[in-house]
Amino acid sequence: MFERIHFTEYLDLDLNDEHWYCHDCGTRLISARLNYKKGCLVAERMPEEIHNPVIDGPYSFAPDKDWVRILEFYCPGCARQIETEYLPPGHPITHDIEVDLDSLKARLQRGELVVQGGKLVKPQPSEGVRP
Ligand SMILES: [Zn+2]
Repeated sequence: MFERIHFTEYLDLDLNDEHWYCHDCGTRLISARLNYKKGCLVAERMPEEIHNPVIDGPYSFAPDKDWVRILEFYCPGCARQIETEYLPPGHPITHDIEVDLDSLKARLQRGELVVQGGKLVKPQPSEGVRP
């Protein structure tokens, strides 16, 4: 039985069922062998909504919607915003976290890593490494 890992600010990893979870509400998002963003609600925002034009005219200092799209990823359980990404139009969402689950589990079982307070850490010398 593995303790849940607080992987990013709003994303937890449970190695027992190999799924991503919302850190805030515990909603199960999607298999940890898949891109967690595919388990989220997605909103596409107009760049001018996020970065208000500073001046009027064709060069307003707001990002050009023909050059960038802004995607926000939300927890379907509590609507916590989990991630944001800026992409060129037509670019697929990025797969920015890919964990070798089998290797991580093996390292935890061997005692090379431990989960303390939700964080992955190397065991302290007093805890020892299991053979
Ligand atoms: Zn949530």
